[in-house]
Amino acid sequence: MEEVLSPTVAMCNGRETILLGTYNYMGMTFDPDVIAAGKKALDEFGSGTTGSRVLNGTYSLHKDCEAALREFFDMSGAMVFSTGYLANTGVISTIAGKDDYIILDMDSHASIYDGCAMGNANVVPFRHNDIEALEKRLKRLPEDAGKLVILEGVYSMLGDTAPLDKMVPLAKKYGAMVLVDEAHSMGFIGENGRGVAEAQGVIDDVDFIIGTFSKSVGTVGGYCVSNHPKFEILRLASRSYIFTASLPPSVMATAATSIRKIMSAKDKRDHLWENSKRLHKGLTDMGFELGTKQPESAILSVIMPDLERGAAMWDALLKEGLYVNLARPPATPAGMTLLRCSLCAEHSTEQVTEILGMFERAGRATGCID
Ligand code: PMP
Repeated sequence: MEEVLSPTVAMCNGRETILLGTYNYMGMTFDPDVIAAGKKALDEFGSGTTGSRVLNGTYSLHKDCEAALREFFDMSGAMVFSTGYLANTGVISTIAGKDDYIILDMDSHASIYDGCAMGNANVVPFRHNDIEALEKRLKRLPEDAGKLVILEGVYSMLGDTAPLDKMVPLAKKYGAMVLVDEAHSMGFIGENGRGVAEAQGVIDDVDFIIGTFSKSVGTVGGYCVSNHPKFEILRLASRSYIFTASLPPSVMATAATSIRKIMSAKDKRDHLWENSKRLHKGLTDMGFELGTKQPESAILSVIMPDLERGAAMWDALLKEGLYVNLARPPATPAGMTLLRCSLCAEHSTEQVTEILGMFERAGRATGCID
C-alpha cells in the first residue's frame, strides 16, 4: 500500500482499492481522538521506552492502558504485552507447568501452539469445535491434575465461533481453568464488545481472556485480563513480558483511547453486523460457498473450488480494486483455499454494494460461479 486513505480505502499498486482483508473491525485507525492521543504522547513522552516493563519501560501510559482494559472487561487484573503473540506465549507457557494438561482446539492460532511448545505441560488437542471430543479428552485425564482448556471466541480461518456456552461449563465440570483468545471478537461481539464469552453468557467462568490491539483496537500490542487473585504474579514470571521492550508511549495512548471509545460503540457494532449479514447473503445468493451457513463474525470466508481458481479470483478482485486475503493449504483447515473477507464498521452500505458487484464480475470471469 503506497497510501492509506481511510480505514477502508488505500492506494495499492497505483490503484484506489477497497480494503476487505484487514482486521480493522471497528475502523479505529483514523479516529481523530485516537490520532490526537498518539501525537500528544509522542510530544510528551518521546518515541519509545527503550526498555522492559519490569525495568525502565513502565510509564503512566502503560498503567492507564491497563486501567482501560480493566474498565472495558470489568475485571480486576490486566497485563499489556508487546503483541498478542507474546501474550499467548507468555501466559500459556507460564500458567501450565510440568504434570499439567493443556486441552486445546486443533484449529488454535500458532501463538497458542507456540505457547504450549514453550512450556512443560502435556498437550491434548481435540477436534475443532467438537463438544463431545472435548469431554472425551477431559474424562480421560487424571482427576487431580492441573488442567487448562484453551479456546478461541472466533476462529479466523472460517470466521466461525466456538460453542463457549457448552464448552466453558464442561471444562469447569472437570475442574479445568479456561483461557479464551478473543482476538477476533473483542470490540465487536457481545453487548459491551467483550467477545464471544460475553455474548454467550459465560464470561464470568472464563479465567483468562487474551486479546490483541492489532485488530479492533487498531494499533499493536497484546493483553491478558483476569479476575484471578494471583494474576499479578505473572508480571514476574512471564518471559515474553520481561525479556522484551515495552510498547512506545504513542501506542499506549492510542490503544487506551481506542479501547475507551469502543466500549460505547454500539452503533458501530450494529452497523458491522448489518454489513456482515448483507455481504454473507449477497455472496451466498450469487452461488459462492461460505465458511459458515450464517454470518457468525466479521470474517466471511469464501471457499474456492481449488488453488488455481482461488489465486485467479484473488488476482481478478485486486484488478477490480478490492483487497481480500488469500489463504491456502497448509495454513487452512481441510486443505481448503479461502478468500478471507473481513469487514470493517467503517465500510459504507454503498461500499458493500460495490464489493458484491466486484465479486460477481470476478467470479464469472474466473469460472467460480455460473
Ligand atoms: N490470537 C489470534 C487468534 C490471532 O489471530 C492473532 C493474530 N492474527 C494473535 C493471537 C496474535 O496477535 P498479534 O497480531 O497482536 O500478535
